[in-house]
Amino acid sequence: MDTKRPSLGGVRRALTPLRNGLGVVNPETLNGLRRELRDQVASQGRKFSKLEVMYFPFTPIPPGVWLYDCANCEFYRQRTCEIVEGNIFPAGWCGFWVSRVGDKPLSWVAEAVGR
Ligand code: SF4
Repeated sequence: MDTKRPSLGGVRRALTPLRNGLGVVNPETLNGLRRELRDQVASQGRKFSKLEVMYFPFTPIPPGVWLYDCANCEFYRQRTCEIVEGNIFPAGWCGFWVSRVGDKPLSWVAEAVGR
């Protein structure tokens, strides 16, 4: 058995979108989420696989409070991801999506319709 591959657990993964929602009213929730995911990658000594995080090359989540794609995720880095292995498409999404530090809820609306 590979002891360097601890499971994050389906419950916690499922809570990630919920905690993003809670972050609308309490930004500290999002800071905690970002910190926990980075700590998890550091402690396990590897990034998550795409399978573990339910990665999709195109986001299945319609725009809402935020744009839920990799390009608008805290962990996105030029077609790679800080916490997920492999090439990452900017239009993608995974269960660990977290809004970027400083992005305000619905700020994308002003960008989309503004001059
Ligand atoms: S949603 Fe975020 S954490 Fe998930 S693969 Fe895309 S950039 Fe990485």
